[in-house]
Amino acid sequence: MRRREFEVTDQKEIIRILDESKVLHLGMSDEGWPYVLPMNYGYTLEGGELILYLHGGMSGYKFEVIQKNPRVSFAMECDVEPFAGKVACQYGMTYFSLLGKGTAEIVEDVEEKKRGLSVLMRTQTGKEFAFDDKLASIVRVIKVTVSEYWAKNRPLPPAMR
Ligand SMILES: Cc1cc2nc3c(=O)[nH]c(=O)nc-3n(C[C@H](O)[C@H](O)[C@H](O)COP(=O)(O)OP(=O)(O)OC[C@H]3O[C@@H](n4cnc5c(N)ncnc54)[C@H](O)[C@@H]3O)c2cc1C
Repeated sequence: MRRREFEVTDQKEIIRILDESKVLHLGMSDEGWPYVLPMNYGYTLEGGELILYLHGGMSGYKFEVIQKNPRVSFAMECDVEPFAGKVACQYGMTYFSLLGKGTAEIVEDVEEKKRGLSVLMRTQTGKEFAFDDKLASIVRVIKVTVSEYWAKNRPLPPAMR
């Protein structure tokens, strides 16, 4: 991040971005070609370790790409609000965003799949859901162990506050 004054390091703000964004853009790489998908996610942040859980149907190109290359990046954002100016270059958007990279794996262990789905539903809805083996058997769960992440806030320019 070139403009350090925009960096967000407060853990409470980071958790708020993770709670509010709801959709992330998952960046994968298929033999050099970036492949980016919007997806819903769930997260855990324990002892500084960020884990993301994603889910999908039983097949799909994303699974093929991850199996070939588990290195992924992601971006998410919330509180996106446009602001106007007198000239074109004064227009912009305020936002909070979080970017990161990590390693993706397709979860095979049924108990971890169920846990991942509960985490996803908690992040998406704020409610607790339990999953049985049957429900877990009709979806695939992707776990992303995040190695690095960064958060940023773009506020209103001082002249507009
Ligand atoms: C807000 C939002 C949230 C979503 N949340 C989830 C989620 O939690 N889980 C989930 O599995 N999917 C989610 N989707 C759909 C997701 O983006 C993909 O469309 C889906 O997962 C299929 O991806 P795939 O790689 O398996 O493609 P496949 O179904 O194998 O499709 C193959 C081809 O179709 C095209 N394609 C695939 N997806 C898209 C797309 N979104 N837009 C345009 N073209 C596409 C591409 O050319 C791709 O190579 C969400 C989409 C949106 C917009």
